[in-house]
Amino acid sequence: MTDFSTHLIHHPYAPPDEFSAPQPGVFKASTVFFPSVAAMRQREWKDKSAYTYGLHGTPTTFTLEARIASLEGGQHCVLTTSGLAAIALVNMALLKTGDEVLLPDNAYGPSKTLAEGELAAWGITHQFYDPMSPDDLAARITPRTRLVWLEAAGSVTLEFPDLIALVGVCKARGVWCAIDDTWGAGMAYNPFDLDGQGLAVDLSAHALTKYPSGGGDVLMGSVTTRDAALHQRVQLAHMRLGIGVGVNDAEAVLRSLPSLALRYRAQDQAARALARWCLEQPQFAQVLHPALSGSPGHAHWRQVCGPADARGEGAAAGLFSVIVDARYTPQQVDAFCDGLKLFKIGYSWGGPISLVVPYDDLTAMRQAWPAHLARGTLVRFSSGLEAVADLQADLTQALGRLAG
Ligand SMILES: *Cc1c(COP(=O)(O)O)cnc(C)c1O
Repeated sequence: MTDFSTHLIHHPYAPPDEFSAPQPGVFKASTVFFPSVAAMRQREWKDKSAYTYGLHGTPTTFTLEARIASLEGGQHCVLTTSGLAAIALVNMALLKTGDEVLLPDNAYGPSKTLAEGELAAWGITHQFYDPMSPDDLAARITPRTRLVWLEAAGSVTLEFPDLIALVGVCKARGVWCAIDDTWGAGMAYNPFDLDGQGLAVDLSAHALTKYPSGGGDVLMGSVTTRDAALHQRVQLAHMRLGIGVGVNDAEAVLRSLPSLALRYRAQDQAARALARWCLEQPQFAQVLHPALSGSPGHAHWRQVCGPADARGEGAAAGLFSVIVDARYTPQQVDAFCDGLKLFKIGYSWGGPISLVVPYDDLTAMRQAWPAHLARGTLVRFSSGLEAVADLQADLTQALGRLAG
């Protein structure tokens, strides 16, 4: 090795042996070197015993996968490029032409449109079930049903389903059940032990974009399992589809994980305080937050999210929705949202900044208007990390716009 240009590339480097620090190292690679052809042939990408190629994992992504698996009470985890990609991966790993998948009617919207679009085009049919009725779920399961999705609380309308009964139906009928655990984030309940006696979903998909990232600046998802065979199936699909996450993004999530529990609790407390305050405001016909006693599915929330919490308050994500009384027009509700200064208008949640989204056409999102929802325009809030008094003052000043 005499040429300067070769020396620039091959100059010996080994990571420091005795270097130990709070954050895991950021290892970036597509290529991973093998010491010999024999080693190359021996290494197995499917277990985490060795490194083969960046797409199959680096020390940084393996560390994040292990932490997400333990956060959610699972054993195995793969990372995906977004939460929606995690949902898509589960569908692609488990379903084939002729199969049917069941989704709750209050599922994350893009998950429903994936079923209506690509899955339908591939000959995979779907039905939407009433998340508040385990009997409705049971009645819809046919010999073609392979997978049931669960979500708790439901997107936008935040009903909390009877998870224990729904998972029980899936177990009794021998169909896989996968939960979208984004709201729970591994904090509110354990998807792999819902009743304290080991009742578990088969898979958990999580938009790490939300709480684990915590910054509103990273897109990532995960699929967690307990069963080795199921994990293998997901991992094979993951490999064949070529899903890999950027290591700098993985680093950002690793950096945020240690504060996840603190952030989750703080955003929970802020959202509950604001939701209770909203109950007092005459402009709102209904306030939806599973920890409020009048909210749909409150008892189910208490059952799976209550006992685990030492303070006896239970845990919930920092999300709540209000239904603005039907006497106000959608335009007035838009003006209310536009009038907010601290709450920014934008999708997603879990970051430091409070957010608001009006959903004026709930009928387009659901099969039928659920009987437990008041009529009016729905507005969803997510609390960030600002002081609650400031957020409340912001709501107060913007409510002035509704009057006019
Ligand atoms: C945001 C979200 C997703 C999708 O996550 P992305 O990373 O934005 O794709 C999936 N499910 C739920 C419940 C979500 O809130």
